[in-house]
Amino acid sequence: MTLQERDKKHLWHPLTQHKIHPDALPIVKAEGALLYDDQGKEYIDGIASWYTAMYGHCHPYILKKVQEQMQTLDQIVFAGFTHEPAIQLSEELIKILPDNQEKIFFSDNGSTANEVGIKMALQYHFNKGEKRNTIIAFTDGFHGDTFGAMSASGLSVYNGPFEDFFIDVQRIPTPNKANFEEVIQELLEIIAVYDVAAFIYEPLVQGANAMHMFEARYLNEILQICSANDIITIADEVMTGFGKTGKNFASEYIATKPDIISMSKALTAGFVPMAVTSCTQKIYDAFLDDSIGKAFFHAHTYSANPIACSVAIAGIELLQSEEIQNTIERIIQSHKDFDAKIKNHPKIKTTRQKGVIYALDLDIKMDRYGKKRYEIFDHFMQNGVCLRPLGKTIYILPPYVITKEQLDTIYESILALLEIV
Ligand SMILES: *Cc1c(COP(=O)(O)O)cnc(C)c1O
Repeated sequence: MTLQERDKKHLWHPLTQHKIHPDALPIVKAEGALLYDDQGKEYIDGIASWYTAMYGHCHPYILKKVQEQMQTLDQIVFAGFTHEPAIQLSEELIKILPDNQEKIFFSDNGSTANEVGIKMALQYHFNKGEKRNTIIAFTDGFHGDTFGAMSASGLSVYNGPFEDFFIDVQRIPTPNKANFEEVIQELLEIIAVYDVAAFIYEPLVQGANAMHMFEARYLNEILQICSANDIITIADEVMTGFGKTGKNFASEYIATKPDIISMSKALTAGFVPMAVTSCTQKIYDAFLDDSIGKAFFHAHTYSANPIACSVAIAGIELLQSEEIQNTIERIIQSHKDFDAKIKNHPKIKTTRQKGVIYALDLDIKMDRYGKKRYEIFDHFMQNGVCLRPLGKTIYILPPYVITKEQLDTIYESILALLEIV
């Protein structure tokens, strides 16, 4: 039996309608920016496997560190025990996170990192003797697939069956020059009517919302209003974290710093799943009490797994290396050059860029999940390029180690698409 036939026997893939979806492609090996399928064909990983493998797949330095860690300490309960990799990682994270972040809480994935952030915010108020039950979120945000994170997400196509069980979320549109006054008005009305515990947002770039981008100064005003009302601000940096926007964290672009930051994806460089929720001293202090009841009762069995921590430490080392910082700059410049070349193309509606994230909207007729999407996807795969268009949006979010030639191949495949679409 082929891998594909065996796959079909017992596997149920995420985000997949198995009745109509084409077969899953078996990948047998990955190295640097390249993926290899079971027929030996190679693909350039233009989205770093959902923004995780930013330092390239199977990076030898990370591999070495993981191997060492695996032979020393594999796993230990993180309630009542501690270990060097978790301690060191907390130190390294605090160095690169916005100045106001002081404490590091571990979980397993981006959704749980947000779940933790939301629970921290709710209990922060609860511990202070105030019941605040409403969360504010952006209309088309995405924060994950667990209940709290899903409630705060805006993509209702998926969420229909669960809506009755959602936590209480009020939504505002992402701000821009035209709607800014209205958004502020809506925000103030929500604050006046509801007991708002927290505001959760993806800073500057909404990944799942087709890489929608918005400006720091408008977001800053929203954050200021939240702070003035003791509304806990939660920056979901699961996608934007670790250099993708051109700074370590997108929150660095915004004057008002969040109370809580969630991160995952590139945190562990594509090697293993792990997530972190960081917070300020103010949040942490609200859980300190002589009564155990005010403690934060949230745990995952694999919290701060030593192997995952060792990966994250090695990843942060790479992120800060001159080599990676230089390649980030190179990618940012290449995207700009490419953009100058194509932004006026008749089949392109708009383009946008933040750091190494580049996106363009096609000016053609199609549905977000229609047939055309698969045709575009197939076009790229046939050209040896792995991109996953979101509706009419084609975006590139390459591993930092992508070579100039590989990046050019991606650009050329987009130009070729414009000829045939
Ligand atoms: C991917 C993502 C999540 C969810 O992370 P998972 O690890 O898939 O649970 C949450 N927020 C943002 C912004 C993301 O990009």
